Amino acid sequence: MISFEEALGIVTTDIPVKPAEKTDFHHAVGRVLAEDIFSDISMPPFNKAAVDGFACRRMDIQQPMQMIEIIPAGKKPQKSIAPHTCSKIMTGAMMPDGADCVVMVEQTKMDGDVVFITEPKTKDNIAFMAEDIREGEKVLSKGTLLKPQHIAVLASAGAIYPLVYQKVMLTVLSTGDELVEPEMKPKTGQIRNSNGSQLVAQAIATGASVFYGGIVSDDEETSRSMLKNALSKSDVVILSGGISMGDFDYIPRILSELGIEILFRQIAVQPGKPSVFARSGNKFVFALPGNPVSSFNIFELLAKPFIYRLMGCDFQPLRIRIPLGEAYKRNAAGRHGFVPAIINDAGEVLPIHYHGSAHINALVKADALISIPLGITEVNKGDLVDVRLI
Ligand code: AMP
Ligand code: MG
Repeated sequence: MISFEEALGIVTTDIPVKPAEKTDFHHAVGRVLAEDIFSDISMPPFNKAAVDGFACRRMDIQQPMQMIEIIPAGKKPQKSIAPHTCSKIMTGAMMPDGADCVVMVEQTKMDGDVVFITEPKTKDNIAFMAEDIREGEKVLSKGTLLKPQHIAVLASAGAIYPLVYQKVMLTVLSTGDELVEPEMKPKTGQIRNSNGSQLVAQAIATGASVFYGGIVSDDEETSRSMLKNALSKSDVVILSGGISMGDFDYIPRILSELGIEILFRQIAVQPGKPSVFARSGNKFVFALPGNPVSSFNIFELLAKPFIYRLMGCDFQPLRIRIPLGEAYKRNAAGRHGFVPAIINDAGEVLPIHYHGSAHINALVKADALISIPLGITEVNKGDLVDVRLI
């Protein structure tokens, strides 16, 4: 059995990044940049008014000023500001020559074309050329996972066909003779396949291109051929179930027979101990525990950073350190615990009480996983704990 940190090291080290391709930037959210992006213009590209008001010379604001022009956004000013003159200017419009400030419209009074400033002082209220970005400056780095705010930066830099890494092709399979698909009503001894949909949803959320390959019966021959077929079409196959100590848990043996090297089989993580990661060249298999909370956890903790690595990104979960809202106890301390939890309005984290890793409703309200390190069985109310947001 290896530690969580060792497992994380294995799934994120020496992983071949997918080739790059150009994509329309409108559809690039969730993709990872395969190039640095440089701006082809300065931003702002000209000195512009930061407020609606009157562009003038600061030294003139104590006395009345003659308004000589109205400058809308997007138009070049026609007149320069001479002593005791000003131009009415809209937010975002180009500053006229000669002006060194914009007095906010709220701080002025007008009488015909004459403007009086009602406050003794003003800020510049100018967004200066290139104050955000200089022409040719790097605005985004290779390896950035593109969020909506990055798409705005691509747009303003004119990078409309950025180079991104290709999507990971991923197949989800669910093993178990007891499983029926969600549209069926389970008969005696059967349960609905919830892991399949959960894993598909988790994988889609990472930006992978996901194919659901169906239920695999607990039969060695079927398992072998479905796994082989899934691997031929994908970079990654994620299975759930079939890896514990039961008579019909064939997956590890099949992986070995197919020449797929098992890099780990058990991790000191609770829940989620029986978790397999295997590799054959550029093809990978994650076989996760059948128990839904365990499979959710291991996807979140290990499969997610692995998939991001394949797409060229170092995924860092959002982690915070906050007080525990109630005392926590566990019997054994031999595994690193990741406890589903709720963050309350007081900024405390509360463990969710659930009765085993098959209890899928445990996750419904979870905002986070509390990290309980190896060797710790008790944490007091009020103690600071490491929490990973999910
Ligand atoms: P296994 O890892 O195959 O021994 O399964 C462990 C537990 O998880 C058993 O109670 C299974 O019935 C349950 N389980 C396995 N696969 C699924 C699934 N796809 N959806 C919901 N529960 C599952
Ligand atoms: Mg099973």
